Amino acid sequence: MALNIFNTLSHTKEEFKPISNDKVGLYTCGPTVYNYPHIGNYRAYIFGDILKRYLVYRGYKVKHIMNITDIDDKTIRDSQAQGKKLSELTEFYTKEFYKDRDALNIVPAEKYTKATDFINEMVKIIEILLEKGFAYKTEDGSVYFNIHKDLDYGKLSHFKISDLKENARGRMTKDEYDKDSAEDFALWKAWDESDGDVFWQTQLGKGRPGWHIECSAMSMHELGETFDLHTGGVDNIFPHHENEIAQSECATGKTFSKYFMHNEHLMVDGIKMAKSSGNFYTLRDLIEKDIEPLAFRLWIYTAHYRTKTNFTLDAVNGSQVALKRLYEAFKAIMNSDIGVIDESYKERLIEYMDDDLDTPKALALMWELVHNPEIEPENKKATMLDFDRIFGFGLENLKEEIIPKEVQLLSLEREQARKDKDWSKSDELRDKIKSLGYEVKDSDTGYKISKI
Ligand code: AMP
Ligand code: ZN
Repeated sequence: MALNIFNTLSHTKEEFKPISNDKVGLYTCGPTVYNYPHIGNYRAYIFGDILKRYLVYRGYKVKHIMNITDIDDKTIRDSQAQGKKLSELTEFYTKEFYKDRDALNIVPAEKYTKATDFINEMVKIIEILLEKGFAYKTEDGSVYFNIHKDLDYGKLSHFKISDLKENARGRMTKDEYDKDSAEDFALWKAWDESDGDVFWQTQLGKGRPGWHIECSAMSMHELGETFDLHTGGVDNIFPHHENEIAQSECATGKTFSKYFMHNEHLMVDGIKMAKSSGNFYTLRDLIEKDIEPLAFRLWIYTAHYRTKTNFTLDAVNGSQVALKRLYEAFKAIMNSDIGVIDESYKERLIEYMDDDLDTPKALALMWELVHNPEIEPENKKATMLDFDRIFGFGLENLKEEIIPKEVQLLSLEREQARKDKDWSKSDELRDKIKSLGYEVKDSDTGYKISKI
């Protein structure tokens, strides 16, 4: 069996064949650090993470690069509004992003590249594009990419340049716009007063890069002119990734990324979760509502990455209950010796994940494994830990709760009261245990104490 992934370039599921046998170069568009990311953004990063985890699980050596956009229209706008230096604002939110990443158990990328560290590399690409006639300078000193010179323009978002409106002959200064406004886009933005003290003095003059050139420069510098996989959310297809392909391939004459994978949106009442719509939650908002970040992670797996998913607090609360159950199931066997991985379960997990990362099926399989009484505890433990290399629920870090002596003694006493059929004493002891923050649950095999 081979790993099949949906490649946005071909619009089909394709067998994944990396450029070199066992190595994969993976680039994920990272956060624009002007504010806290919202949980829609985290759908994109969790998707990138499960892809990376699965590639590693399948034996590939993955070099994962994620950029930090610390210069663009939004970072300038907000640093000015808050009277802060650009770096003060972006460094703060970069740190906050790393905290969220760790809380979500996202495996850190091999490298996080800051756009402001790659201005020279961007300038070099822009100079090549000018030299080759794909770009032109305007009177104010800005540089634009001429989309009409690139015969392949539109190959990712699947449109023909001839289908664009007449005004496609114009120029787009903004970083973000939709397909209907496709025009020549800015590679280099000449300084104007609204940029304040944010500029670089380069061979191109005084100014700053456009957003799209940033990712071309960082990805090619770190992974080579042609690399394997590029990911992001579907809103990145146009214009961001279309423009990345255009400027990179016109500069190098080579394929940029062999595969592009895009996650669908996290929605709220049918509308994409976005800062600009005001319909967003951050990870902190969830934590304040007692939802663990890993419960959100579990919830993300319940929908395939290429389907839109509607966010509700009820749904994520359901995943919180599910995560707790999963932890309880693992704790019940975690003290067993480690056995062998159940091969038939592993084969099925690979079959589902090989099919374009079918996490809903993979998750259902985890539950089937949990509930299968025929698998010996030590083998179940080994298999669950193996699955968790992909899921990232942190099973290997779970610790058995240490139940305080007092609670243990009260529980024993209550058990005796039950045996004596002294129900009022048993209830009284249950309340006492509860007041200490624990609960006792009875089952056919005895009782179990857990933290409330
Ligand atoms: P940005 O910081 O806006 O560049 O977004 C970072 C990542 O989050 C990109 O890959 C976006 O495509 C992705 N993204 C933005 N909004 C959503 C959403 N509502 N659902 C899923 N992914 C999103
Ligand atoms: Zn990008």
